[in-house]
Amino acid sequence: MLIFSLLLLHTLLCTGTSSSFNFGLHRSRRGASSVVTFGDEPYQGTNTYPLDYACDGLKSTCNADFCTVVATEPTCDFIAKTVKPGAESQTCQTCTQELNDPRCTTQALKRAVHAAGGQVHAAYCTDKYLVLSATGAGSWQPNLEDIPMPPAGDGNTCRTRTWTVEGRNWKIPLVAGSGAYELLTNSHRSNNNNGNAFPQGAGDGAEKYLCTTDRGAFGLPSAGPAGVSIDGQDAFPVFNNGALLTPSWCEVDSCNEHVGQGGGPPHLHGDPFGEKCLYSQQNYTGIDGTASSINAHPPLIGWSLDGPSNYGRYLSLDAPGGRVELDECGGHTHDNMPYHYHARIQSGKANRQSRGDEALYLIGGEYQEFPAFPMGPDQCWKGDVSKQTDFWNNKNDLYAPCCSMTNYYAREGVTINGAGTLDTESYCALPSDFGLGVTGTSTDGCIIHDSLKNGKTCNVECAEGYEMSSTTSVTTFTCNKGALVAPTLQCTAKAGHTFAVTKAIPCGTNCVETTSCTAILVVETWVIVVAIIVGAIVLIVVVAVVYVKCCKKGTAATMDGTKGLAKSKEVEMADVEDGKNVASV
Ligand SMILES: [Zn+2]
Ligand SMILES: [Zn+2]
Repeated sequence: MLIFSLLLLHTLLCTGTSSSFNFGLHRSRRGASSVVTFGDEPYQGTNTYPLDYACDGLKSTCNADFCTVVATEPTCDFIAKTVKPGAESQTCQTCTQELNDPRCTTQALKRAVHAAGGQVHAAYCTDKYLVLSATGAGSWQPNLEDIPMPPAGDGNTCRTRTWTVEGRNWKIPLVAGSGAYELLTNSHRSNNNNGNAFPQGAGDGAEKYLCTTDRGAFGLPSAGPAGVSIDGQDAFPVFNNGALLTPSWCEVDSCNEHVGQGGGPPHLHGDPFGEKCLYSQQNYTGIDGTASSINAHPPLIGWSLDGPSNYGRYLSLDAPGGRVELDECGGHTHDNMPYHYHARIQSGKANRQSRGDEALYLIGGEYQEFPAFPMGPDQCWKGDVSKQTDFWNNKNDLYAPCCSMTNYYAREGVTINGAGTLDTESYCALPSDFGLGVTGTSTDGCIIHDSLKNGKTCNVECAEGYEMSSTTSVTTFTCNKGALVAPTLQCTAKAGHTFAVTKAIPCGTNCVETTSCTAILVVETWVIVVAIIVGAIVLIVVVAVVYVKCCKKGTAATMDGTKGLAKSKEVEMADVEDGKNVASV
């Protein structure tokens, strides 16, 4: 695991120097959505980047232009660990697979994980979770040698430019069934419910949420994955564990990959979009399987640990949902699809903590902008993880397959304990898009990425602003023993049609305006902190009163010891608040 990494950067965490303490809830209202901005808040930039902006290529990186300083330390030599993907060693449990989640069918799993290069060893649904088992090796070769400033390992004598495999398992709450995930009512980044759901509060750790004085809180883990990619790699937030955008920290490669100080498999800190990465324009397929259809809904690229699926970036606003604004968590709902995340490109802004050449990131007193590539979820989880009983629990039996299960994916050569005969005929997987201007209908409508039962049909039609060609006759999808029969629907845009831009819904009374780290700590912790502070103040006041009284009486001798005690208490508290280090994970 990458949780316990060495300390690299000494910086202030959730406390601050008064000069930069700049987040007095500067709220600005732009249109209907609420925006919270900070002194050097990420995403306050004004640049927009082309939708197909890619940082592909062996010698290019996703880092900012000012990342010109390259670390020269030798490469760390990590020792390969024993690989235990998990799928082979699990004992099956008595349960019934939940197949009402369309992601759980054989065809859907095959479409997702097999299409990602077959790096996942096994994928199946239990009655509660979608379970993935993999080694962490990606479906492409990481370009770690291109990272300007990879994390330092081994006492800062080397840099992490290599990786090793390691057995990893993930469990994703399902959209249906007894363990179905629930969504929060708001999508604010300092989401109060999920802030309280982190067992260890704010700070640096897999069970702590991201938080710094400069940027406030983000309802995502600071040193652990927020999701997993379809090829079985951990997907961390776009931030490092100090809440800094990884591109301005100059520590990700051209596919937004990163290896932390402890080594192990590479993990993602951003959108792996590019010819040499997880997915590219080739993976945007239309109704007829045509590749490179930028008007298709972006392809599935992973799942978030709170439950919803994660799709690629939009390459065209005309794609389904392309004009439905993403919320702060990086997700939206459209076309009868359940809430889901998308990768996207944001404009970040350098700050005093950026790396690289200061002469390039601070020009004429102005911090420069750079592109950042959140993979999704972006700044929070929309799923209410507090409702997931075993969210933080990694016990083996939670991952165990249901005995005699029939819908699953097993990589060639991998045997899943207790698995039944593979069912490839009961369901068909609907495509990631129905074609330009085509959408599902409300009655028996087809849903993008859904599963269709054998013998069933669903309907599609032209979306608003499009019209059907005169030669079109079939408007239904049919599933015939695992084989999907697609219609030949042709929808063309109406002349002179203007598209209505869908605005995000204002969060109203459910908005959580608190952005300080301490305000959303676990209540018990907060009470203890307050008690300590109040206790210290009372002690100091008592000491002062005694001191005054003693001085008046001229008995200073008894005071020295008490005064010393008060002094040491102050030092201790200062240590707690200022002494936190931030490691690079
Ligand atoms: Zn979408
Ligand atoms: Zn990392």
